[in-house]
Amino acid sequence: MKALLVYPEWPDTYWSFKHALPFEGKKSAYPPLGLMTIATQLPADWEKRLVDTNVRPLRGADLDWADIVLFSGMLVQKPPMLRMLEECRRRGLKTVVGGPITSSVGEMGSYADHVVIGEAEELMPQLVADIEAGKAKPVYRAMALPSLEKTPLPNVGLINPRYYSGMAIQYSRGCPFNCEFCDIIEIYGRVPRTKTPAQVLAELDLLYDAKWRGSVFIVDDNFIGNKRKVKELLPALAEWNGRRDRPFTFFTEASVNLADDAALLEMMRSAGFTRVFLGIETPVESSLKQAQKMQNTRRSLLDSVRRIREYGMEVMAGFIVGFDNDPEDVFDRQVEFIEESAIPLAMVGLLQAVPGTQLYRRLMKEGRILHEGFGDNMDFRLNFIPKMNPERLVEGYRSILERIYGAEAYYQRVRRFLADYHPVHHKQRRFTDYIAFCRSVLKQGVLSPDRGAYWKFLIDAATRYRDSFDVAMTLAVMGYHFQTLTRLACETE
Ligand code: SF4
Repeated sequence: MKALLVYPEWPDTYWSFKHALPFEGKKSAYPPLGLMTIATQLPADWEKRLVDTNVRPLRGADLDWADIVLFSGMLVQKPPMLRMLEECRRRGLKTVVGGPITSSVGEMGSYADHVVIGEAEELMPQLVADIEAGKAKPVYRAMALPSLEKTPLPNVGLINPRYYSGMAIQYSRGCPFNCEFCDIIEIYGRVPRTKTPAQVLAELDLLYDAKWRGSVFIVDDNFIGNKRKVKELLPALAEWNGRRDRPFTFFTEASVNLADDAALLEMMRSAGFTRVFLGIETPVESSLKQAQKMQNTRRSLLDSVRRIREYGMEVMAGFIVGFDNDPEDVFDRQVEFIEESAIPLAMVGLLQAVPGTQLYRRLMKEGRILHEGFGDNMDFRLNFIPKMNPERLVEGYRSILERIYGAEAYYQRVRRFLADYHPVHHKQRRFTDYIAFCRSVLKQGVLSPDRGAYWKFLIDAATRYRDSFDVAMTLAVMGYHFQTLTRLACETE
């Protein structure tokens, strides 16, 4: 059997980093970890190929080669996935679809021959046996949440790490919190499940042996969902990284209560974490309460950000507008918070009611759902009827983006961040970093209409923030992605 694993293209969103990737000569931010892990569970005598369409297009020759095509993806990847499924159907090729998209889109079965809903690990042996016997069912649904201790190692041999800006591993699934808009807890549950430290180190060994050096994204939706367990992992991670002269820096997502645990922060610093994404969502307390984001209430969110930064970790954060309790001045308050907290990379989105979430169910009951949405919270098309006037909401959202990603405002924010930030782990400079620097000077310092602001920033980075010069340059390039995307989104709206 020849199995072709296909990962659909990401749209142009903040998380795609599409406009920053060419600076370092990369094609995609992270490899398709889910498909690489599923590949390990396919029989050894099946031939396997993986096409990540973020790296190169799917070709007719790929489909000519395959006996079966397996797709994975998220709601946001639905349009390209449906186009490729259609092509497979036209050619009479058998298809299987899995990944989070099957939990949010009820009708995937009308596009694919076999749909895997939920976590696939425990379903794979049956699915494979049924395919081999020629009697695979239309739907395979996970009845329980599998232990991650059974998750196999990903097949790193199916990708070329050179095409990616970072590598990805997963340590845990699930989150103990209960945010109303969140689909993670619906899919993966509220009791975090974790891999053992030995499993994680084995994955790092794989990446190291594949000659990867640089950033590793721990893709967990909340890395600290089980603090006791993560404190068992981190010393092992620190030891592994230290013994090899720190080939990896780590980036992950965590809940804001990370700021309350000095021991945990210290462990993350020692292990080599340099960046953490926080779901801050909004500085409006009543909106946080309504969104059931209680872990963000009764605290100074500004102090939480500063605290985490003290441990050498840059904070990236997500923000949302469109909650029922949002006051008329929410747009100004969001901008003020982002500026005051000096978070350079602030991902601001319009609230989306994702199918399967508590929010979706509530709004459905209230008759306020317009359509299933697109899974992209940078989309200006609301998928529900908001309490605030919809035109006012969309216009206010656009005004936030324009204000925080204007070139002067962005560089000024990065300066404030750098004044307060002291990196602990300097990444090892590679040849590609020098190339990226030259491309940045050419693209941002010569060709860009914002070149004046860029040069002032570059001079400051080289004189006032010399210790953090690498970080400053990375943020200049990332800023290019955020600024370009914001401009495109606002223009096409
Ligand atoms: S903290 Fe994050 S992962 Fe956890 S429930 Fe809230 S939004 Fe979901």
